[in-house]
Amino acid sequence: MSLYAETRIVLAVDLDYFYAQCEEIRNPEIKGKPVVICVYSGRTVDSGAVSTANYVARSLGVRSGIPIILAKRLLAKHPEARFLPMDREFYESVSERIMQILRYHSSKIEQVSIDEAYLDVSENTRGDFAVAEKIATEIKSEILEKELLTCSVGVGSNKLISKMAVDAKKPDGLTTILPSQVHQFLDPLLVGKLFGIGTKTEKKLGDLGIKTIGDLANYDVDELSEEFGPNLGPLLKRLAQGIDDDPVKERETEQLSRIVTLKHDADGFDFASEITPLCKDISNRLVAYGLVCKSIGILVITTELKTKNRSKTLDAPTNSEVRIESVASELFQLFFREENETLARRVGIRVSSLTKTESLKKDASLTEFFS
Ligand SMILES: [Mg+2]
Repeated sequence: MSLYAETRIVLAVDLDYFYAQCEEIRNPEIKGKPVVICVYSGRTVDSGAVSTANYVARSLGVRSGIPIILAKRLLAKHPEARFLPMDREFYESVSERIMQILRYHSSKIEQVSIDEAYLDVSENTRGDFAVAEKIATEIKSEILEKELLTCSVGVGSNKLISKMAVDAKKPDGLTTILPSQVHQFLDPLLVGKLFGIGTKTEKKLGDLGIKTIGDLANYDVDELSEEFGPNLGPLLKRLAQGIDDDPVKERETEQLSRIVTLKHDADGFDFASEITPLCKDISNRLVAYGLVCKSIGILVITTELKTKNRSKTLDAPTNSEVRIESVASELFQLFFREENETLARRVGIRVSSLTKTESLKKDASLTEFFS
């Protein structure tokens, strides 16, 4: 029992080719075609860089970060290829719903980016890796069922191992590395694959004759200290041995939003019925997280794909659906009076300045009282 209590288990969840996969869900007929999500700089029609590509495009050589012009050249013989502008708001709304799914499986969750999170499941699994793998499977099928999206999960005894595990098999992967398998998993990998090692450090290690993670794990720690300093030297060796004590850090949710494509483009606030479900969903999520918001905002995405915002700070924080909807309606009316040339294609609601509800604090103290 005491042994189990000390075994940590961390899941790393990574949503596969996230932006491109979001576009595939919104528009299923592009699935199976090369899909490239672009960040246009706006200077010329095609200037800018590739943000994400789906696996079909990747198999044809398209990579994140390459110029759009190069991607177009690579896909010149594929007229079915789709080049789409990045729609961050939409991806954020999908991401937020998925993070909410993850929260059902552990309250200890660290969201690293829009498409990555760590979950500490030590407590709910009591250190049992078989249980952790079952949770990982449930997470994968729940995300697929509810959001139609695949993800990859790594299961390990800390963040480093779970991150290395998730990277080992993508897309739609599930990789578990038991504590007894850490060395045989890490040792043969090139040292540049070790999480946190950049190309500069990799080169320096190479100069010392260190090619694999195993080489680094077995290297003399004093020599590493001499080369990299008294902190980084020993740290590199520990990482190569798969040791990582960095806790899963819960981060506060900063904002929640939902966005919708209107049934008809609008030049005035005549879509009240379409924002009701958004307000309801945001209110439900605030209640589920035990949060209230002090600021309510709206966003309007125009037919020219420009995003415009308005927001209002409240006198008293709220999580009430009715209050969110009334403030949002007021902001939309004001918006269309001020911007009477604007034609809205998509609209959204965003709440921010989030804090814990007082009642939740009370509940927590009650729980302490009864335990
Ligand atoms: Mg990803």
